[in-house]
Amino acid sequence: MAKKPTYLELVKKIDQLEKKCAKYASVDEQYRNAESIYHTFFENSGAATIIVEDDMTVSFANKQFENLYGAGKQDIEGKIKWTDFVHKEDLEFMQHYHILRRIDPDAAPDHYEFRMINRLKQIKYIVNTEAIIPGTKKSIASLIDITDRKLAEEALNESEAKFRTLFESASDTIILADRDRFIDCNQKTLDMFGCSREEFLAANPQKFWPEFQPDGKPTSALVIEAIKSALRGDTPTFEIKYCRYDGTIFDSEMTFTIVKLGGKKYLQAIVRDITERKTTEMVLKEGEAKYRALFELAIDTIILINNETIVDCNFATLKLFRGTRDQLIGHKSWEFMPEFQLDGLLSKDMAKEKIQKALKGETLFLEWRFIRCDGSIFDAELTFNTITLKGEKYFQAIIRDITERKQAAEQMKKLTQELERSNTDLAQFAYVASHDLQEPLRMVTSFVQLLQHRYQGKLDKNADEFISYAVDGASHMQRLINDLLKYSRVGTHGKNLEPTNFNIVINHALSNLSKTIKENNAIINIDHLPTIPADYTQLVQLFQNLISNAIKYHSKKQPEILVKAINKGDFWLFSVRDNGIGIDKEYIDKIFIIFQRLHNKSKYPGTGIGLSICKKIVERHGGRIWVESKPSQGSTFYFTIPGKQ
Ligand code: ADP
Repeated sequence: MAKKPTYLELVKKIDQLEKKCAKYASVDEQYRNAESIYHTFFENSGAATIIVEDDMTVSFANKQFENLYGAGKQDIEGKIKWTDFVHKEDLEFMQHYHILRRIDPDAAPDHYEFRMINRLKQIKYIVNTEAIIPGTKKSIASLIDITDRKLAEEALNESEAKFRTLFESASDTIILADRDRFIDCNQKTLDMFGCSREEFLAANPQKFWPEFQPDGKPTSALVIEAIKSALRGDTPTFEIKYCRYDGTIFDSEMTFTIVKLGGKKYLQAIVRDITERKTTEMVLKEGEAKYRALFELAIDTIILINNETIVDCNFATLKLFRGTRDQLIGHKSWEFMPEFQLDGLLSKDMAKEKIQKALKGETLFLEWRFIRCDGSIFDAELTFNTITLKGEKYFQAIIRDITERKQAAEQMKKLTQELERSNTDLAQFAYVASHDLQEPLRMVTSFVQLLQHRYQGKLDKNADEFISYAVDGASHMQRLINDLLKYSRVGTHGKNLEPTNFNIVINHALSNLSKTIKENNAIINIDHLPTIPADYTQLVQLFQNLISNAIKYHSKKQPEILVKAINKGDFWLFSVRDNGIGIDKEYIDKIFIIFQRLHNKSKYPGTGIGLSICKKIVERHGGRIWVESKPSQGSTFYFTIPGKQ
């Protein structure tokens, strides 16, 4: 059993305990002081700071973290794990670091960036600095919010990328140059110069300059001049022959500008390959020269007028107006017109009216009177229209001198009138002659017939013969004169053309010929014929002549005649076909001439006037007559008469 302590022993023990307590109290205070220091430091470190447990729980969070995360300590400490606020794309590597740090604190990086999704669902870009608290599995992480910087950086990158894309995809070649070297260029440049970026940027700019330009100027002088102008603030654009990487020369157009980048001045050159444009320009120039030549060599005068002023004219104009270019170009068009036109109207008034019409797009053809530079006047045919050249409206006047044509027309008119008069005279003469000759001839005929009648067989043989010749001659002459009278009557005694039924016409003609038809046993077939404007009596005469000829000039065969009519639109084509002796080709045109006969009258009686009467009748009706025939194969006489059924 233990011995009860003495009082002194107890006092000593108490003293010892008190001393121990005092010692502990001081340690406790030391601890408390330290904790307070760390706590203050923790709370006011300036960065959002948390303590992370081994199981990823956030056991402590300071004020900054509360702000960053958007929640109070009571909702953070012991309530959330750090994985709750990390962007899921960043989770994997951070979890890996978490574990690694606890196995080997030096193996995990002490700081890295990650994206936090806070309570307010905002993305925050964070730089995290983390370390293990020695002797524990806890870590202390300090999070610095770099969102603003990050966003600014991203925006900058984005706009840089945008400009780079623009730069690269520009359809023009863009080159940035420093004093004497290229510092950047876009893809188009490489395509145009045919080299890689490295080759281009490493090359001396002068590699791309041919030594001289076509005008003999050194390329360097031209480039330096342009750089100077750009430095003065201008944007010089100029055409220059340039070289590709392989040395081939091409036509280019360059624009120089001075640009400032990062406070430094650079030369920006935009280069365009204008080979195609140059070729087009050349083709155009050639084309223009060709048209100029055509314009100059045109037989007609061509004048271009703008705003009443002559702006261009060709060589033919100078010839026609008997002036020089200076006397015409730049002058008002009405200076070359007399005050009045052909019809007595004022030139200026008429011109105004015509211009209005031409402006509506009409092409005008008119007769116009002009004054030459020497003051002489001439009449012309004027073609007038508007044309658009380079967006501007011009009047184009084509002038043809018709003085000669007008004189010729005048002459022609006179001749026609004269011819008409002499024709009328002739017809009158033929009519009067044949008419007046009839009477004495009738007397001669009747007296020689009387002589024959009374003295036949009473005088000698010769006298009988002579008297019989005289009788024959007189009666032939009578027939000739009768036919001549008929011929001249076609023109002088013609009636008006009135709707005429040709079926009736032909029946009339056939009835006149009934005796001949019967005697010759002729077959006559008639198609249905039209009713068109005609002179009835003359048409009876026409058919009568043609059918009687068709019977008269029959062959050994029984005469067979066909009369037909075909409508040809504005006129009718009539035909009278026979199976007679036909006509030799060489006489085909002669038979329509007055008194022309192919046979003597003992074989085929006649005067040779029948077909000329037919021709005259057809022509008086506005038609045409001709024949198609071959000897012993019959003939077909064709004629046309205008008219619609
Ligand atoms: P004519 O019959 O009085 O001689 P025409 O003027 O009627 O005078 O004819 C002129 C000539 O044309 C005739 O002499 C004849 O030789 C020829 N001729 C006219 N019609 C026919 C016909 N149907 N067949 C063959 N020859 C014809």
